[in-house]
Amino acid sequence: MQQNTPSASDLLRTPAIYLKGVGEARAELLKKLDLFRAFDFLFYFPRDYQDMTDFRDVSQLEPKKLQTIGGTIRDCEVRETRKGIITILNVRSGNDYVQGIWFNMPNFQRRDMIPGRRILMTGKPAWNPPFWKMTHPVVTYLADDEYNNESGDPFLPVYPLTEGITQFHLRRIIRDLLPSHAPLLDEVFPPYLLERFRLVPISEAVKAIHFPNTEEEKNAARRRFVFQELFILQLGLAMRRIQHQTQLKATAIESNPKIDTRIRQIFPFQLTEAQNKVVREIIADMARPFPMNRLLQGDVGSGKTLVALYAMLVAVANNFQCVFMSPTEVLARQHLRTLQRILENSDVKIAEMFGGQKPTQRGMFLQQIMTGEAKIVVGTQAILSNAVSLNYSPFHKLGLVVIDEQHKFGVKQRGALKSGTKFDPHYLVMTATPIPRSVTMTLFGDLDVSLLDSLPPGRQKVKSYYAEPNQREKWDDFVRNKLREGRQAFVVVPLVEESENWDASSLVQTFDRLKNGPYKDFRVGYIHGRMTTEEKERIMLDFRSGEIQVLVATTVIEVGVDVPNATLLTIESAERFGIAQLHQLRGRIGRGAHPGFCSVFANPTNDETKERLKAFVNTSDGFALAEKDFELRGAGDLFGTQQHGLPPLRIADLTRDRAVLYEAREAALNLVHSDPGLALPEHGKLRKQMLARYGAVLELGDVG
Ligand code: ADP
Ligand code: MG
Repeated sequence: MQQNTPSASDLLRTPAIYLKGVGEARAELLKKLDLFRAFDFLFYFPRDYQDMTDFRDVSQLEPKKLQTIGGTIRDCEVRETRKGIITILNVRSGNDYVQGIWFNMPNFQRRDMIPGRRILMTGKPAWNPPFWKMTHPVVTYLADDEYNNESGDPFLPVYPLTEGITQFHLRRIIRDLLPSHAPLLDEVFPPYLLERFRLVPISEAVKAIHFPNTEEEKNAARRRFVFQELFILQLGLAMRRIQHQTQLKATAIESNPKIDTRIRQIFPFQLTEAQNKVVREIIADMARPFPMNRLLQGDVGSGKTLVALYAMLVAVANNFQCVFMSPTEVLARQHLRTLQRILENSDVKIAEMFGGQKPTQRGMFLQQIMTGEAKIVVGTQAILSNAVSLNYSPFHKLGLVVIDEQHKFGVKQRGALKSGTKFDPHYLVMTATPIPRSVTMTLFGDLDVSLLDSLPPGRQKVKSYYAEPNQREKWDDFVRNKLREGRQAFVVVPLVEESENWDASSLVQTFDRLKNGPYKDFRVGYIHGRMTTEEKERIMLDFRSGEIQVLVATTVIEVGVDVPNATLLTIESAERFGIAQLHQLRGRIGRGAHPGFCSVFANPTNDETKERLKAFVNTSDGFALAEKDFELRGAGDLFGTQQHGLPPLRIADLTRDRAVLYEAREAALNLVHSDPGLALPEHGKLRKQMLARYGAVLELGDVG
């Protein structure tokens, strides 16, 4: 009988329980960290390192040089002196003591200094017989059974943990595994790519990411994995894009000077230079025999609606139907009104599709859509759910789908509508959430991007203020003056609308306070997401007509609401909003000929919140704010929690690793360009890895 020796891939799949240092009980716990097999441990990347490069025994300390010692807290003394409070931490290290000294240490820091805790202390020591002293050292607390670096590693990996598993366990398991298993790993990059992008080969990189010998080794190993992760994702996106262009067919929809003139004649104003530029990009896309897949990015108020309408009217002129879909009903109804007004004297018929519609009304609109009588369908996601639930396309001949505020929808909702013909419709998605370039490349990396980079003329800047509580009266006074001049105001109140026991109390309270107090001489109304459609619609109409002068609102007004006469905005509890959201809210004012004024009232709980709000009032450029927001909060939110559907990044950080992202994206585009379908044998492993991770979510099922 033939003897079976386990293959490399068998060994890499060794269940955790058979690894050195893992017993039955620990194997159970490790599952919580998604550590099931040898392979998983190798790719369980440290979230940080403890820098031991200057780690010393107390007997070897030298004065004035930055060094680290390890030890146990014996006690912590506090002395009050004339100059202030002195904290003295006595740390036992071997048979010696080292003192850490701080002046005016905040209480909360002292609370951690519990006798018996093991710590690392880094500082510049001074010999003050009988002890070494470090003034204002940096302290790191160790888990109970962590060792004092017996191994002599210059950097110790710090892993995410779960209860019952310590750094010490994980370090030992992984350290024992590396010599035997790292060499078994299969390199996905062909040698020429390793060389071109200066990537550390896989076996070496895996060793170095856990136990690097130098700072350079550590960085080079990390860069390899960051590059790999971003490159694989970008390959997927590039592939989706190519597939779109080669496998899908759309009808080319062409414009001509006659159509162009007719459209411009019915528009209430001339398109701006920026609008003309993106219109040209869109029209060029639509004229190709495969679906347009374009993202139109433009700050709030930049005039995206008119651009979308232009594109739709070109489609209509060619006898195609269009869909104009928005994330909220308030927004969809506003678009409906804009379109009805502009198309008043034309014979372009518009169908409406909303969630709470009466069946008879919906039936009527569906009928018009099926016969092709309705040319433009305006509505919410109800358009999708209706179309999908029918099992066949309700459209007579759908040519163009416009999705407003795309960031509120997921990847899969793009492309969900079928045209009713054997061709796919063109897609234009729009977003006013300015997102950093690195994020656009990732979340929307399969799209072409148009940027609407200037505002329509005559637009006034919005002046923003960070208001202290004692400035409330002054602000109320200012608002009253503007109201008397004929302007209108929003007051935005945060609410946790998702919560089960939602109540409108804070909104209604604010409403009562304002109506009976500072704005008692004015007409005050309120609106929130839990009102019925009719109520919301009536309130918005009253506000639009000026019947309501001050509108107290939740973030239902966050996206796209356009009332040019509203120039005043008060934001309450502003600390509860993110920068991007604040910017969206601010976009509701200063949309007409009069300047806008925005005041944020907040109870900042920490410095970061205050910094965020200050950045907001000091910057009017949405893109600059987006970068700032991103820096302050990181990319954490963008993956996983949002609905776009991409799996989270494991190691890359879109803020920190921007440069690697740009490199990886270009490399991926080039590769897919030179080897469409990644069919060459040397690219087989890349292709396999890309499909394993992104094949399903990016719908790349039938690649080559
Ligand atoms: P957003 O990009 O935020 O969706 P809108 O499309 O709602 O912006 O446009 C904002 C405001 O600018 C609207 O009141 C619109 O009528 C006006 N607007 C759009 N284009 C122009 C233009 N070319 N000239 C003057 N005003 C314009
Ligand atoms: Mg808009």
